[in-house]
Order: sequence, then C-alpha cells, then structure tokens
Amino acid sequence: MPEELSANTLRLMCVHAHPDDESSKGAATMAKYVREGVDVLVVTCTGGERGSILNPAMERPDVLDNITDVRRQEMERAREILGVRQHWLGFVDSGLPEGDPLPPLPEGCFGLSDLDEGVRRLVREIREQRPQVMTTYDERGGYPHPDHIRCHEISARAFDAAGDPDAFPEEGEPWQPLKLYYNIGFHKARMQAMDAVAVAAGLEPPYKEWLAKWEDKPEDRDRITTKVPCADYFAIRDQALVAHATQVDPTGRWFAVPLDLQREAWPTEDFQLARSLVDSSRPEDDLFAGVREDAQAQA
Ligand SMILES: [Zn+2]
Repeated sequence: MPEELSANTLRLMCVHAHPDDESSKGAATMAKYVREGVDVLVVTCTGGERGSILNPAMERPDVLDNITDVRRQEMERAREILGVRQHWLGFVDSGLPEGDPLPPLPEGCFGLSDLDEGVRRLVREIREQRPQVMTTYDERGGYPHPDHIRCHEISARAFDAAGDPDAFPEEGEPWQPLKLYYNIGFHKARMQAMDAVAVAAGLEPPYKEWLAKWEDKPEDRDRITTKVPCADYFAIRDQALVAHATQVDPTGRWFAVPLDLQREAWPTEDFQLARSLVDSSRPEDDLFAGVREDAQAQA
C-alpha cells in the first residue's frame, strides 16, 4: 500500500480478466471514485496475449508481432486516463475458444491454471492493498470467456481467504474486505433504453440485433442492487476504452449513441452486491455505503 494512504482512505479493488475489461466494465464508476479521493486499484489477471485484434485499423504486422507489449502500453494509457493504479496478476490469456467442437484451451493459460495459485496471488494483493470494497464478475463471468469465469472464481475465494489467518499464512497479515460486487453492465434493460433513446433522436438502433437474440440469455436487471450515478464520467470511460486500440474500434457500436443521449438513457453503472459484512439500505447508489462510516471511525 502506498505510504500516502492513511488508515481511513477508502480503497476499491477491481479485479479484471484482461487489459481493456477495466475500461468496459465499471470504468466511469472508477473514474468518479478516483476524483473523489478514493484509492482505486485495478488487478488484471492476464496480459491479454491472445485477444483478437478487433479494430481493423490495428491489424498490422508490427502490432501482431508485439501484441504483449502493445497491450501493456494500451493498459498504461488507459490507467492514466482513468487515474487508477494497476497491477498484473501474471497469468497468461486463455483466448476465447471458438468452433464446434470447441478446441482445448492452450497449455499454461489462466483457464487451466491451478485455482489455488490464482487465489494465493490475489490474497497477497488484498492483504497488501487492504481494499474495503472489491468488484469482479458474476459466476457466469459476465460472458462465457474462460478467463472471466476464472476471474470470478479466484475473486470470490480470495475475498474470504484474505481475512482467514489460516489461509495462505505466508502471504501477509489477514485483511477482510467488507463488500464484494459483481459488474452488471451488459443487461437488457440498459440496451433497450439506449436503443430507444437513439431511435427517438432519429438514429439507427445500435443494439437491435443483440436485443433480437436476447431471449435465451438471463435478464440481469433483477440482480442489480446498486446503481452508481457516473454519467459525468462517461467521456473518460470512452477515452480509456479507445486507448485499448487493438481491442476497440472507435467507429464501433459501443460509441454509436452520443454521450448526451447515453446520460439521459442510463446515467448509472450497475452492480450486484454479492457479499457484505456491513449494513446498507437497498437500493444503493454507492459502493461504499455502510463502509464510509467505519473507515471514518478508524481515522
Ligand atoms: Zn476480457
């Protein structure tokens, strides 16, 4: 933990699978908390080595040959834009298996790594950084990428293990985070609201195709416990996303709805409070609800 952080600093740890996930899931929330004086640390499980290049302008040999370095540089830029600190957990991207049947995961990847090893590394981070609040993905990974599911698994286990003196005793003094949240960003109600506001403004509905195929997917709106108002930070979120140039096409549909319309349609980022050791009334609008009082009392 950096020395300038006093005991009563509010600290948020956001655990993500790949560089770019932090900019697409809860980024405006992080930007807001940073600017309110909260210490925000992103822990990135893998280096994103197997991410496909999703921006045609970046499909160049010099990028492909140096993808690991390029993605580190992109992450550094996004980190600066968001104002967060960022650590790597040091695992290797599993890639998104595609095809029928699905190919096996590549040897040595995060998805095949020893679960205890991932938990151990994250427990060490938690004990060093002492966050009161953590975020991760839900048990389905938010979307079915093996690294996202693994990210959930190690985060949920490390949340408990970090406070347990009998777990990984060689990894530092126990520290029990107080709240664990899942990012619930990509849900039907939000996509519908974005499409509706686009149509009302005379634009093409950007998410029409996704919505048409949504039936078989669970609707996550019912899981939301916490809506963090962060519309003033959507522009920073978009800058951070665009910094991941190999992964994000700036002409793509994530940017199809102008920000003023997005602010009108859905001005929050949404979360599910999965675990809590403090009391807070629902619905919440603050990840630190029930925690601020405690942290101030410690000062
Ligand atoms: Zn990812």
